[in-house]
Amino acid sequence: MSEPLLEVRELTVHHGQLRALDGVSLRVLPGEVYAIIGANGAGKSTLLRTIAGLHQPTSGSVWFDGQDVTRVRTERRATRGIVMVPEGRRLFGSLSVHENLQVGASYARKGPWNIERVYETFEWMKDRRGQLTAQLSGGEQQSVAIGRALVANPRVLLLDELSLGLAPVVVQRIYAMLPQILESGLTVLLVEQDVSQALRVASHLQCLLEGHTTLEGTPSEVTAQQVEAAYFGLEQAATGGGTSTEGSESLWSGSTTSSRAS
Ligand code: ATP
Repeated sequence: MSEPLLEVRELTVHHGQLRALDGVSLRVLPGEVYAIIGANGAGKSTLLRTIAGLHQPTSGSVWFDGQDVTRVRTERRATRGIVMVPEGRRLFGSLSVHENLQVGASYARKGPWNIERVYETFEWMKDRRGQLTAQLSGGEQQSVAIGRALVANPRVLLLDELSLGLAPVVVQRIYAMLPQILESGLTVLLVEQDVSQALRVASHLQCLLEGHTTLEGTPSEVTAQQVEAAYFGLEQAATGGGTSTEGSESLWSGSTTSSRAS
């Protein structure tokens, strides 16, 4: 088995009294797209943010390229190659597209990505590089947020809920960029509530429910019923005898994501 680029071992994270993650482990191999799925509050963002260094775990560890980075500060993790596109994009709305990309480039590692390459990848962006990001659509903002992360030349890109608040067609357009991004040698760990979308792009997936791992495997290994059971904690689906519930229909249509489509 090849060595993981990113590994999480038995991670437990608390927010105050709340145990948001409980003994979660994962191994992300170089070049793969690893998807974390799960309902609201499952602990997905907490996992990604802990990997990025934004939360300290109560116990467990985060390993990157064979080294324990659990106590390494966020900025140091970024310069080593762990870069996150946060939920909600977190762009500087009063700065232009170009200025936002420059922010990403300011702590960049050496590598294949630079602002010009981002403009080549997202063709609309160069012509609108002077526009304030606050004036862009949700999908355009998401693309700038991805571009800002790419110019830092990540080795592993953490994508937190790219689809949040976006219309399905926009989500598909953004995910269509993924092969181009992977071609540059990146590894991707993504969090996604839109399960269909996650299964389309992932080489490996893990489902969280209330901070626990409820399912792990490749998309070809897991059945729709297993995914539903893991996502909702349904006993009947877990035994293979269940029929689709109202909730599970929305799971496959992607409508478990925010309805704030833009
Ligand atoms: P969502 O899709 O809604 O973002 P999630 O799976 O990403 O959900 P988290 O955001 O990781 O879940 O939240 C896991 C649990 O931790 C939830 O109960 C949430 O309310 C709580 N939580 C998350 N961040 C904090 C925080 N900074 N302070 C206190 N509680 C938090």
